[in-house]
Amino acid sequence: MARFTLPRDIYYGSGAIDELKNLKGYKKAMILTGGSSMKRGGFLQKVEDILHEIGVETQLFEGIEPDPSIETVFKGAAAMRKFLPDVIVAIGGGSPIDAAKAMWVFYEHPEATFEEIKKPFNIPKLRNKAIFVAIPSTSGTATEVTAFSVITDYSTNIKYPLADFEITPDIAILDTDIPLTMPKTLTAHTGMDALTHAIEAYVAFARSDFSDPLALKAISDIYDSLIDSYYGDKDARGKMHIAQCLAGMAFSNALLGIAHSLAHKTGAMFDIPHGCCNAILLPSVIQYNAKVCADRYATIARMLGLTGNTDKQLTDALIDSIKELNKKLGIAQTYKENGVSEELFKQHIDEIAANAVLDPCTGSNPRKIDAEGMKKVLTCAY
Ligand code: NDP
Ligand code: MN
Repeated sequence: MARFTLPRDIYYGSGAIDELKNLKGYKKAMILTGGSSMKRGGFLQKVEDILHEIGVETQLFEGIEPDPSIETVFKGAAAMRKFLPDVIVAIGGGSPIDAAKAMWVFYEHPEATFEEIKKPFNIPKLRNKAIFVAIPSTSGTATEVTAFSVITDYSTNIKYPLADFEITPDIAILDTDIPLTMPKTLTAHTGMDALTHAIEAYVAFARSDFSDPLALKAISDIYDSLIDSYYGDKDARGKMHIAQCLAGMAFSNALLGIAHSLAHKTGAMFDIPHGCCNAILLPSVIQYNAKVCADRYATIARMLGLTGNTDKQLTDALIDSIKELNKKLGIAQTYKENGVSEELFKQHIDEIAANAVLDPCTGSNPRKIDAEGMKKVLTCAY
């Protein structure tokens, strides 16, 4: 027995934000966003205007920080409990949308604790108070269609991926005009996050006939469009926005692997953006996993037109192509080149490896791994 879950409605394309008008009949919308990018782009105003036009009262909660904290989640949930929205609209990158998903849980269930809900598939029933609309502004996390929300505990510098289909948004709006305002580096990092999602989903333990085509199509489209998107090509930006979402539908079900386990533990520790951590780790992770799933990597390589006579050669070609892609996107390939000193790395490697083993993404990695193995992969990426 297995389950495959998709979100309900996805509106996509240029100007898709107008589909917010479908919320007619709701009374109160809490709008959540990050710093200032959505304001600067005029998208926040647009959301407010459309909602006001259809008679929905709004309240804004802004300033959600990148890699949101538990404290921010509690603050937002308290604001929701005061305003009592029947619809939650999160617009921005993965951070504000993830934070809003966790706020939603504590809004509907003030009695819940973070300790409880961070256990996989332990989130109580939602939608008694509000439905959730996600409007992503970056093209990477796919949180608008996933069962995940990544929240950081800054007392330990550990990122916790909350996981439950209950927090999959009800409505995703992929307006391809919104990612057009992303700067180059953000485009590169979020794009490599999306590629890592697709590749990890294609080999992950819970992969299926449902998730495989989504993962492969995402990988192919990301290879086709990420570099042009990086250089600001409008169509390529749009294609990336859709491709990252396909990857999201794949990994929300197939789950991920140790690139994400390690990215979750090194991102906060070394203050490196999530997508950049994945970009650094992916080649070493493929190398490690190839022992058990080189045939799957070979399929990806063949699809991309890479050449080799054996699965091993094709896997190596895939690894080389990822390194090449990183280079073209201006991403430094190692932790060291990203400014992590040898001293800091050595000081934390044991702790990171031990925590990474416990990350929920480790259980779905195709090859088993212990702390020693994690240290080896990390060292290869240093
Ligand atoms: P963030 O949401 O962290 O945003 C990073 C920066 O990008 C912010 O400064 C933000 O500015 C800016 N920004 C966002 N959109 C635009 C835009 N269109 N134009 C200009 N600037 C913009 O980035 P990500 O989307 O990469 O999210 C990363 C987070 O998501 C991490 O915490 C990661 O762990 C998590 N994640 C979640 C997954 C899931 O399934 N839930 C999967 C993978 C990662 P401002 O604040 O001003 O808006
Ligand atoms: Mn990710």
